[in-house]
Amino acid sequence: SEPAQDLHEFGEQHVTKGLSRITKGIMTKGDGSWVTYDDGRKMLDFTCGIAVTNLGHSHPKVSKAAADQCMQLVHSQCSIAMHEPYLRLIEKLLPAMPHPSLDSFFFWNSGSEAVEAAIKMARQVTGKQNIISMQGAYHGRTFGAMALTKSKTIYSAGTHPLMPGVFSIPFPYWHQQNQPVNTPLSTLTEDALYQLELLLAQQTSAAETAAIIVEPVLGEGGYVPAPPEFLQGLRKICDKNKILLIIDEIQSGFCRTGTWFAIEESGVRPDILIMAKGLGNGFPISGVVSRRELTDKLKPGSMGGTYAGNAVSCAAAVAVANSMRDEKILENVQARSTELFSALNGLKYDPALNPHILDVRGRGLMVGLEFASPAATAHRFSAHAASDLPDAPPPPPHSTHSAQKGVKHPKGMAARVARKCIDKGMLILTTSVYEVIRFIPPLNVTKEEMKKGTEIFAESVREVVK
Ligand code: PMP
Repeated sequence: SEPAQDLHEFGEQHVTKGLSRITKGIMTKGDGSWVTYDDGRKMLDFTCGIAVTNLGHSHPKVSKAAADQCMQLVHSQCSIAMHEPYLRLIEKLLPAMPHPSLDSFFFWNSGSEAVEAAIKMARQVTGKQNIISMQGAYHGRTFGAMALTKSKTIYSAGTHPLMPGVFSIPFPYWHQQNQPVNTPLSTLTEDALYQLELLLAQQTSAAETAAIIVEPVLGEGGYVPAPPEFLQGLRKICDKNKILLIIDEIQSGFCRTGTWFAIEESGVRPDILIMAKGLGNGFPISGVVSRRELTDKLKPGSMGGTYAGNAVSCAAAVAVANSMRDEKILENVQARSTELFSALNGLKYDPALNPHILDVRGRGLMVGLEFASPAATAHRFSAHAASDLPDAPPPPPHSTHSAQKGVKHPKGMAARVARKCIDKGMLILTTSVYEVIRFIPPLNVTKEEMKKGTEIFAESVREVVK
C-alpha cells in the first residue's frame, strides 16, 4: 500500500472541504476506549465517534456477529424480503421500550433519515402539516431534519429556504430565556410551556400541527437535560391538541444516560421514538418506533429505502442489545457517572477554577461542563467567599443544569480546552454555541480510564485558565 504521508496529501486534495476535523492523521485502529493513529499515537476516546461506540471500539461480540452475518447474508432489501436479524432485533428491543405501546418498528441507516421518516409518518397519520421543534435542537443534516435543527447556523448556512411548516419554542434553559439570575427551573419550564400555548394560539393552530419533536437531553445544543416536568407538560399539551410527540433519542438513547432511554425518567409516553448511534455501536442503523394503531394507517410502499434495516447492521445491533444486558452496562454507567460528576464538580468548587465554570450537568455518561467568563460568575464567587466553598462537592450524580445566569461566555474557551486534551492524548468534543465540553465516554469505560480522562481534562482546564 502507499506510504501514509502520500495518503495525507491525497486526502487534502480529494476530500471535500465541507468536512471539518478536530485531529490530524488517519485513525487506523479502535480497541475499547482507545484509538490508534497511523503515526502510532494512541488516544483515549471520550467522544465515541459522537456517542456511537457506546460499548467501545471493535467490541468483539458485536464485530463477530457482523462478521458472521457477512458470511450468511449481507443484503436482502427489506421490500424484497424480510431477514432474520431485522426480526431478532425487534425481539430484543421490545422489552427495552420506554412504554409498552411502542410496538411497531422501522429501521433506517442514519439518525437524519429516521427523523425524516418520523416527520413523514406524523404528517401521514395525522393529516396535518406543521412541526414544532426546540431552540437549540439538533435533528440532522438532511433537508427536513435540517429545518428542525436550531443549534448552530453552520448546519444550514447557504441552503435556505428550508422545509416550510416548522416552528420553534424555547427549551427550558436560562441562556435562551434571558431570565434573571437564579431563575428556578420550574419557572423556565412554565415559561417554555406558555410559549408553546402561545405558539398554538398565534402561529400554528392545533388543527395544523402534526407533531412536536424534542430531545430529552439537548445534545449538540449544549448537553442540557429537559426537566421531567417540561416533557410531562409537552405530553399534556399534545394529548389536549391531538398532536404527536416525537422523542429523539438518537444521542441520549441506548443506556447512555443510565437508563435504556432518557425519556424513562419523566414517565412520558412517546408517540414516536427515534434511535440511532449506540444502537449499532458503529454499524449504520437507526430506528423509528411507534404504536401499531398509528403505523397501520401507513400505506404499504410509503416507507422504504435500499439499505434500510441492513442485515449486517441489524445483526450487530442484536449483539449490542445482548451485550448491554450481559455486561451489566447500566451498572457501570451509574458508577462511572458518579466519578465523573464528582471530578467535574471538584473543578467547579475549586476556588481557582470556580469563576470560570458555570455549570456541570447531564445524566449518566452524557455530561456537559459549561465555561463562563469570570465576570459572569463574579456575583456567585463574591457571594461565597472561597472558604465557604464546600471541600467535597455536593454529589448530584444526575443533575439538571443548576448554574446561575452568566451569559458572557469566554469565546473559544471550550475549543481551547478540547485542543489541550487532544494534545495530551484524549479525544473530546465541544457542543454548538455555548462554551460546553461534552463527556461521552464508552459506557463500559473502566474506573482507571475515567480517572485518566478526568485528570487530562483538569490539567487542560488549569493550563487554559492560567
Ligand atoms: N438527532 C440527534 C439528537 C443527534 O444527536 C443526531 C446526530 N448528532 C441526529 C439526530 C442526526 O443523526 P445522523 O448524524 O446519524 O444523521
